[in-house]
Amino acid sequence: MKIISINAGSSSLKFSLFDMKDEHVIASGLFERIGIEGSNYTIKFNGEKITQEIELSTHVDAVNILLDKLTDLNIISSLDEIDGVGHRIVQGKDLFQESVIVTDEVMEKLEEIKGFAPLHNPANMLGIEAFRKVLPNVPMVAVFDTAFHQTMDKTTYLYPVPYSWYEDYGVRKYGAHGTSHRYITETVKKILGREAFRLISCHIGNGGSITAIKDGVCVDTSMGFTPLAGIMMGTRSGDIDPSVIPYVMEKEGKNASEVIDDLNKRSGLFGMSEYSSDMRDIVEQCDMQNEKCLVARQKYVRRIVDYIAQYYVLLGGADVIVFTAGVGENSVPVRREICEKLACLGVKIDLDLNNQRGEITKISTEDSSIAVYIIPTDEELMIARDTLHLIHR
Ligand code: AMP
Repeated sequence: MKIISINAGSSSLKFSLFDMKDEHVIASGLFERIGIEGSNYTIKFNGEKITQEIELSTHVDAVNILLDKLTDLNIISSLDEIDGVGHRIVQGKDLFQESVIVTDEVMEKLEEIKGFAPLHNPANMLGIEAFRKVLPNVPMVAVFDTAFHQTMDKTTYLYPVPYSWYEDYGVRKYGAHGTSHRYITETVKKILGREAFRLISCHIGNGGSITAIKDGVCVDTSMGFTPLAGIMMGTRSGDIDPSVIPYVMEKEGKNASEVIDDLNKRSGLFGMSEYSSDMRDIVEQCDMQNEKCLVARQKYVRRIVDYIAQYYVLLGGADVIVFTAGVGENSVPVRREICEKLACLGVKIDLDLNNQRGEITKISTEDSSIAVYIIPTDEELMIARDTLHLIHR
């Protein structure tokens, strides 16, 4: 059984081809600058990496070349070996509570809601449309970043704003990174060998979100109506007082979307440090006593700790805290600082074990009140698993 996982952006298409017998990646790669000059692709397989500059006018071109290459390079012997294609979709609103087989009706619903994630959903749909054109007989599955968060209750997902904003315009918390948090939940289930546990999953990468999970089900998450809310991120502000927006609009002569652009692309670590959005650069600068980087890093840690504390109370305690994604899996000092601030909850980590990176590792000590793990996330595998599951059903 071979399944392709797809993450399509407006000018890119990322893929992983899985052999689902043992869930290993046979090949993976990226098509970039689709529709822009200088388009190219990279395919990795068998320890080799092939890169080529080639004209890619549309996503259909990228899919055609991808499938040609998979057979030309003998990665698969024929296209018949591809049993299904899973696609990441950023926003499913409350129309999609779980992954679904793509049908014309699903495409119509996606069309209806694309305005809720204008930067992502239309691009995700381009990927589906391209594969449906090139592989019309292969089942496609849509996997939603928001679906895992659909179990939040009304008190959690409603904002304290006029009710009609929710009823008339769908203004509410939807969350994001759900596929990653679901993967973490399934992995913790396997590690603990039981279904009942209170988990705080910290997906901290360039984007970041924290999710509270009880017995396998999401009860709250830090991202909101859009992925701009919640903790401080690489370039995103996370939660701020919305009154800042009209104030800066007036001061800088900008419109609302320009200020939102500042909050999405020029805030967070990047905005506060005036140096970089990458935690590696920030840590390096902190070692040189760069004042803005020091404050940015403290704020970053503080926001994460605030959410963990909030969810600890919401869950009535916690059994497991997981760190995942770029910073969570790799940044030894950031994990240490977060856990030090959680000492009042009885969290204790082993500093040697905390030196581990990119592998499933329990970093808490035996007498820690909460087990703390590093678990590398794998959204692509989760998409492939859902695809396999649905096409079997
Ligand atoms: P992601 O969005 O999950 O790919 O995470 C990307 C981010 O992870 C980068 O922008 C870095 O801030 C962070 N990152 C990756 N490797 C390291 C590392 N070794 N130490 C600290 N941060 C890292």
